[in-house]
Amino acid sequence: MTDNQWVILRKYIRDMADELGLKDWKITLMDEPCGEGLSADITSVVGRKVAKMRICPDFLQATAESQRNTIIHELLHLHTDGMRQTICGDLNNSGALSKPQCDIFWYTFDRMDEYCVDGIANAIDCKYPVINWQSSSNA
Ligand SMILES: [Zn+2]
Repeated sequence: MTDNQWVILRKYIRDMADELGLKDWKITLMDEPCGEGLSADITSVVGRKVAKMRICPDFLQATAESQRNTIIHELLHLHTDGMRQTICGDLNNSGALSKPQCDIFWYTFDRMDEYCVDGIANAIDCKYPVINWQSSSNA
C-alpha cells in the first residue's frame, strides 16, 4: 500500500469506529500483516480502550464490499472485548474448572463470539460506505 492508502485506511477506520459507537477507543492500524489465513485481526489492551488492528498483505485485492465488511467485523470485536476479558479472567481466577474444561469452554465461547460478530457485521455493513481509495489523504 502507498503512504496515501495507509492514511485513507486509517481515516476510514477512525470514521467507522466513531459510527459504530467506539469514539472512546484509540485504534491503531499497524503496518505489520495480520495472522496468516486471516483478512485482518484486532487485539486490545486489557482494561483499556486501546486496540491494534492489522490487515492482510492482499487487503487491496479484496472487493470494496469485502474490505468494508472486514473493517466493520474487526471493529465490532471491540464491543465484545470487555465480555471476553471478564470471562477469561473469571475462568482463570475461579479455579472452578479444570484446564481441559476451561479450554473447551473458551474454544466454544470464542467460536460463538466470532459467529455473533460475523452475523452483526454481515447485517449492517451495507449501511456504511466502502473505502474511497480515490480520496486525498489531506481530505
Ligand atoms: Zn473475527
